[in-house]
Amino acid sequence: MLAGAASGRLRAAIVPVTILLAACAPLPTKPPLTAYSMLPAVQYPSPNFNERRPGFVILHHTSDSNAKDALGTLTRSSAEVSAHFLVARDGTLYYLVDELKRAWHAGPSYWGGEIDMNSNSIGIELDNDGVEPYATAQLEALMTLLADLKVRYRIPVANFLGHGDIAPGRKVDPGINFPWKRLAERGFGLWCEPPYEPVPANLDAGSLLGVLGYDLSRLDAAIGAFNRHFAGIESRVMIEENRARLNCLVMKKTSGQPTQDAGNGAAKTR
Ligand SMILES: [Zn+2]
Repeated sequence: MLAGAASGRLRAAIVPVTILLAACAPLPTKPPLTAYSMLPAVQYPSPNFNERRPGFVILHHTSDSNAKDALGTLTRSSAEVSAHFLVARDGTLYYLVDELKRAWHAGPSYWGGEIDMNSNSIGIELDNDGVEPYATAQLEALMTLLADLKVRYRIPVANFLGHGDIAPGRKVDPGINFPWKRLAERGFGLWCEPPYEPVPANLDAGSLLGVLGYDLSRLDAAIGAFNRHFAGIESRVMIEENRARLNCLVMKKTSGQPTQDAGNGAAKTR
């Protein structure tokens, strides 16, 4: 399995470079924005910085029948699409784009007020045609990778999502066959099971979906995305049981699920 070894080597390679840059990287000769170019700025570098870090993981399926075809698409310039990782059916992990760079995997997207998910997420493609079940070796490799990302970037439990969640009506991946419950049992994503608390009648599905994070510009599409992810059904109708499930998820999210290392290493303003 490449997951642990590959990420370990990458960390070993990246950390010294980061330290070096923090110590001596010069500022650009001019701020990059055109509007600022008319405003003189005094260059006064501070050593107190590091790389920005992703706060979400977005899962996809490739819709291809094999990893080789998917790798071809994800690395062809004219396709203008990529991801940070691809996990093959046999569990082989491919590392395509530097985790600290902006891979092109999400496209137009929205979650909880964020409108540029490419800028704040790690994108992971799963070698799956969208119809078949996910392979066991692939899921085990994925969860090894997720555990590593969760710790290193302090990604909140609620921030493991599918492309379909952040682009409802436009995307459906990783699809109806993806085992979100199994991931949630390992701490990747929220989950709720019955019995549920009674839901006040005035808490409509749209309001609850908005609090959870969904784009409400097309409510039926948001309901469809929610049902696919959290209820395992293809439907754009919110039945009462799933409104209660949704309310349970909102309560979990707003009660604040801890991150893997909350309180550890997050001192001061870093
Ligand atoms: Zn996708």
